[in-house]
Amino acid sequence: MAHDIAQLRDLLESQIKEVTTPESLQKIEAEFLGRTGHISNLISQIKNIAPENKRAYGENINQLKNYIRETLLAKGSTISSNNKTPLDLTIPGIRPQSGRLHPTTITINRLNYFFRYYGFSVTDGNEIVTNRINFELLNLPPDHPARDLQDSLYIEEPNILLRTHTSSVEVETMIKEKPPIRVVVPGRCFRNETANSTNGAVFYQYEGLYVDENVTMGNLKWILEKFAKFVYGDKIKTRFRAKYYPQVEPGAGFDVLCTFCGGEGCSVCKYRGYIELIGCGMVHPNALKKCGVDNLKYSGFAFGMGLDRIVMTTFNIPDIRVLYNGDLCLS
Ligand SMILES: [Zn+2]
Repeated sequence: MAHDIAQLRDLLESQIKEVTTPESLQKIEAEFLGRTGHISNLISQIKNIAPENKRAYGENINQLKNYIRETLLAKGSTISSNNKTPLDLTIPGIRPQSGRLHPTTITINRLNYFFRYYGFSVTDGNEIVTNRINFELLNLPPDHPARDLQDSLYIEEPNILLRTHTSSVEVETMIKEKPPIRVVVPGRCFRNETANSTNGAVFYQYEGLYVDENVTMGNLKWILEKFAKFVYGDKIKTRFRAKYYPQVEPGAGFDVLCTFCGGEGCSVCKYRGYIELIGCGMVHPNALKKCGVDNLKYSGFAFGMGLDRIVMTTFNIPDIRVLYNGDLCLS
């Protein structure tokens, strides 16, 4: 027994001399004090010791164990002081991650800045709306495809749903306020869409409404052309096309030359050369009337745009899903 203990001391001392790294020290610790190490081995021999010698045997093991611990500890502190890197104040610091605004927020702020300059105020409305606010008062007939139960996300069919466009806020504003009304509405909208690179179930629209005496299509064209130049620069080419929307009469589509291909045709503009940016027109007299506005005295224009498309074209982001993804490495 005594021989075993003496042998182990020698073994430890010879091994510890060679140690230069924390890893090799850990290896020795496991070899001596680990679950299947030398000490455990000695303890497992206790059953073979004569009863009168058991006490002395146990004490010897404890002494050895303490000796091993102290030796390992002493060696450990020598290694760590040898391995300490000297303090170097010239090493550059680690740059902390700084936050910044989301491209959608930056775009909303820019657009608000533009429209505020021309006398519009920024407003927001409810995201959960009634069928009446979202469809009926906007002159959308019951058989309009947008009213299909499959295309909208209903909270309670058939009357309460998530707004499918920010035009619902036009209605809420016309009901609440008297003309002159000049508002823009940035906001989230919801449709039952399968997500792909250009569509999502959640998306942003940016809507505008101007109701006053003598508002004409000329006013609408003027502000939208100014707007396109503000967003894409003075050289941007634009065009108006006649287009049908039930809530306006006449209705128009406002397009800008594709910023990705310069009009040559690409997958972003679906090989048309132009990107449809805004749906607009003169507010339908029926919609004015339904919202309590005197349609003989007042007229108005309204426009709405997919904000995500503006964000994508100005930040050169080819996939809409990047805007709604929490992965910071993608954006
Ligand atoms: Zn294109």
